[in-house]
Order: sequence, then C-alpha cells, then structure tokens
Amino acid sequence: MQSLYDFNYEQMQQFALDCGWKTFRGHQIFQWLYRNRVDEIDEMTNLSLETRELLKSRFIINPLKLIRKQVSHDGTTKFLFQLEDGALLESVMMIFDYGKSICVSSQVGCNMGCAFCASGLTKKKRNLTSGEMVAQVMYVQKELDKTQDRLSHIVVMGTGEPFDNYENVMNFLSCVNHDRGLGIGSRHITISTCGIVPRIYDFANEHTQYNLAVSLHAPNNELRNQLMPVNKAYPIEELMKALTYYSTENNRRLTFEYILLKGVNDKPSHAKELAKLLKGLNAYVNLIPYNSVDEKHFKSVTHDEAMIFYDMLMKNHVRCTIRKEHGNDIDAACGQLRIKEIKKGNGE
Ligand code: SAH
Repeated sequence: MQSLYDFNYEQMQQFALDCGWKTFRGHQIFQWLYRNRVDEIDEMTNLSLETRELLKSRFIINPLKLIRKQVSHDGTTKFLFQLEDGALLESVMMIFDYGKSICVSSQVGCNMGCAFCASGLTKKKRNLTSGEMVAQVMYVQKELDKTQDRLSHIVVMGTGEPFDNYENVMNFLSCVNHDRGLGIGSRHITISTCGIVPRIYDFANEHTQYNLAVSLHAPNNELRNQLMPVNKAYPIEELMKALTYYSTENNRRLTFEYILLKGVNDKPSHAKELAKLLKGLNAYVNLIPYNSVDEKHFKSVTHDEAMIFYDMLMKNHVRCTIRKEHGNDIDAACGQLRIKEIKKGNGE
C-alpha cells in the first residue's frame, strides 16, 4: 500500500482537494506526520472518523519493517529494513561534532557497477519511492525523539544512484526540507552522484541549495573506466563540463569524493593529475579510506599513506580532508548488511 510520506506539502494539499476537502486538511495531515510524527492514522485525532477510515483504506504511514540494527562503539547505527515486497535496504545514522546525520538509500541494489562497491553486487531491483526514502529519515528521527534529539543532516549516499532515481529523490528531499516537514536545511543536505551528466544539468537548473558531491575516484579516463563503468558513458571531460556549468549557475562549492585504493589510484602522480583536473573549480576533495568488502580485492591505504596524498593535493592548492571512519566495526561499507542478509536467503 502507498505511504502517506509519498506526498510533499503541495501534493498533500492537492490530494485534499482531490478528495473534496479543503487544503487545510492536507496541512493537518502533514502536521501529524512531520510534527507529531504519529505512527498510526488513527492518532490523527482532529480528523473525523470517516476521514481516517478513508485514509486507512488507501494508505499506510511507515512502509519499513526493521530487520536488524547494529550499533558501533562510536555510536554509528546501521538499520536494515525490509519493504512489503521483500526488498531490503539500509540506512545509517552517524554522529559528528556538528550534529547527527543519516545516510539514505535511494534504490534497491544498484546498476552502476563500481568495481569496489558492495552495493552493486546485486543489480537494481527497483527505485525506492519518495515515501520509502522519507520513511528512512522518519524512522531514525522517531528513535532520536526518545532522547529529544534530532537529525540535522542528510546525505543521499546509501545504496543506489540518486540521479538514476531523480524525480523521487527530489520529491523526498522537498518533504524533509520543507518548513512544515522536518525542516532540515538545504545546506545540510548532500546528494552524491557517480556522474550521470544529463541529470547534473537538470540539477543545476533547479537552483536548489542542496550540496552536490561527485564520486570521482580517479583523475583520468583510463583508470576511471576500470573503476566506474559510468565513465564510459560520461567521460571525465563531459563530467567536468557539466560540473563547471553547475558551479557557475549555482555559485556553490563542489565536493569530490576520492576513495584511496592501495596501489590503484594513490600515487603522487595521481594527486598531481587530480590537482590539474580540478584547477579553477571551486572544489573540495574528500579523501575516503576504503571500507573493505569481502567480495572485492581492493585494499585501503594506511593513514600515513593517505596523509602523503593529502599533502600532495594541498601543495597543489586543492582543498581537501581525509574522511573520518565511522562504524568500521559494523560492516560500514554501503550495502554490506543487505548483502549478508540476501546470502542467508532472507530477502532480496
Ligand atoms: N551512487 C552514488 C551514491 C552512493 S555511494 C555515488 O556513487 O556517489 C556513496 C559513496 O561511497 C561514493 O563515493 C562511493 O564511491 C563510496 N563507496 C562505495 N563503496 C565504498 C567502500 N567500500 N568504501 C568506501 N567508500 C565507498
């Protein structure tokens, strides 16, 4: 059954009109969902019994069933959920000094086939609906409500390629970002893409204030083709052109993600090539230690090796940071918990 979380604020008002109600009723339902954060339609006590019955005959609120939850020593918490059709998905809550962040999945499985990534071990089964993405955030927020805590940041960096599910992702973000929704500020929301060029232009033209992060992982086509098949469709030159367009249209800083894979993309020559590639862009590089994945042969660099790469970039005037590892004692790499459950034969 469809989730009420599928509607953004404007769509909820339109839905109310379509039912022959006043738009105010849509406003009330939205309020119950995002302010009171109810779990059941029957808790919406200022709606008539008849209205609630109609809603209940067509909608549910939460489409997610919790299958497993793992808490790391640093507080990072992984949630494995199952949907009505058996599909499994993961969300992760991470604690930073600036607040609490949730990493949201956008698809069930992924078709991008990056060589190092656990998420692509199973092909995309389907896109997640907007409501299924909202529900991940609401589930975690409701847990935090118990200690009067709140999510301050959202990253769309879980399983899936958000720009391969563009409309639903944008709809989802408009729900959690809306003043009358969760009210999480646009600048606290980051979408990470592997580089689907046409969608980068679409995104640039929307002029939202969401942050854009791009998974680069290699400074040239030869290497990027090996690591990320998407590069064969949209090579680095086209990607850079689209990102330059985004930057000038939006006047926003871009984040590039670069996983340091031992012996693959971690040489000083790669750092120099990367610096040259990013010259002139308002860019920032996030160097990511690799979370090892059982099924993959890649290894991470050590912290000292990462520092050498970092210094090289800084010397070449590229701003960068080394991402702090979170939850590496609990299968932190995207999609690992899901893969383990599938291997046990419990879902897909
Ligand atoms: N499809 C999107 C978002 C999901 S992946 C994208 O490609 O950006 C989020 C980030 O985690 C990407 O930068 C991805 O390359 C990276 N990643 C995937 N597997 C990883 C692993 N095992 N260790 C560290 N980072 C990983």
